[in-house]
Amino acid sequence: MIASTDPQLSKEDLIVIAGAGGFIGGSLTRYFHQQGFTRLRAVDKKPLPHWYQCMPGVENLCLDLSERANAAQAVEDATEVYNFAADMGGMGFIERFRIECLRTVLINTHLLEESYRAGVRRYLFSSSACVYNAELQKDPNVNALKEADAYPAMAERGYGWEKLISEMFCEEYWAERGMKTFIPRFHNVYGPNGTWDGGREKAPAAITRKVIAAKDKGVHEINIWGDGKQTRSFMWIEDCLKGVDMIMHCDELIATPINLGSSEIVTINKLVDIVEIIAGITLERKYDLSAPRGVAGRSSDNTFIQSMLGWQPNTPLQDGMAKTYTWIEKQFHDRKAGKKVITDEY
Ligand code: NAD
Repeated sequence: MIASTDPQLSKEDLIVIAGAGGFIGGSLTRYFHQQGFTRLRAVDKKPLPHWYQCMPGVENLCLDLSERANAAQAVEDATEVYNFAADMGGMGFIERFRIECLRTVLINTHLLEESYRAGVRRYLFSSSACVYNAELQKDPNVNALKEADAYPAMAERGYGWEKLISEMFCEEYWAERGMKTFIPRFHNVYGPNGTWDGGREKAPAAITRKVIAAKDKGVHEINIWGDGKQTRSFMWIEDCLKGVDMIMHCDELIATPINLGSSEIVTINKLVDIVEIIAGITLERKYDLSAPRGVAGRSSDNTFIQSMLGWQPNTPLQDGMAKTYTWIEKQFHDRKAGKKVITDEY
């Protein structure tokens, strides 16, 4: 089931999306707006001009959700709450700013408690593949990670542990208090309207920007973090949104962490190949072995989500990356032309 077919949910029920100034939260707000939900409340701590997407008729609130009173204000009267608010970024950010990542625990802690007090019907927390035991991710030819692989725990330091403890909060709010919580573990998500510059961007956006910059400068070189052989999987944003919606409206998945990602393993070198083809250039690759590069290999085992929801991402990486490229290229050239573009710097 999805929101638009849930008999318990009317188009006038209030849906709150936290972190809506960012990539996935902003995209989910648009997704519900397009489906005709009329009461959407979008919340983010960033000033409004820095939100990637703003929809007409949506109540936009600029609030720091790590403050409890703000969390209470954000969820007042809500029927459903989606929590995408997090102080996070790609490897370059999460390996360097572990305290910021850990302090994100305040957001979920307050939002969950205040959602419970407000009588919210369903609550979704955006977890991450970074909860998985690092010992299982030392080989680029990985076995895909299945849900049970989070324990015994040896999560990504900082960011991954925050996700793990917030997952546990969600599980206990169901076990002790009967509140319906949902816990997708996102593997890399990519697409337009997300961070593409400034230090928080993830590999697909970072590589795309570097290729665009090289083409623009006429210096046909690219700096790649690591040896390029590390593997990942990448999920197109629209596939992700459908998965979020399906998970949130499936009662069999209450308080149950579940992978939401692509199972197609891709090396970083292959990702660069794809972007080069889109750009129509070939670059000399310089590998920076001292740069942050994360685990050696990671992808999503989708056995569980396929058995529960029949969901799988079906957008080819080439197609999604072409759309991402077009969007980032526009941001790049707009900024160069002195126009105001949105980045995470404010
Ligand atoms: P994002 O950085 O684009 O969005 C997060 C938003 O949260 C930002 O707009 C930020 O301003 C906001 N925020 C931070 N602190 C806040 C606070 N105290 N109060 C209110 N808002 C605050 O990130 P995203 O890519 O959209 O990710 C959304 C969620 O999904 C995060 O929880 C992230 O950890 C998780 N996730 C994302 C990916 C991915 O590939 N994008 C992968 C795994 C997990």
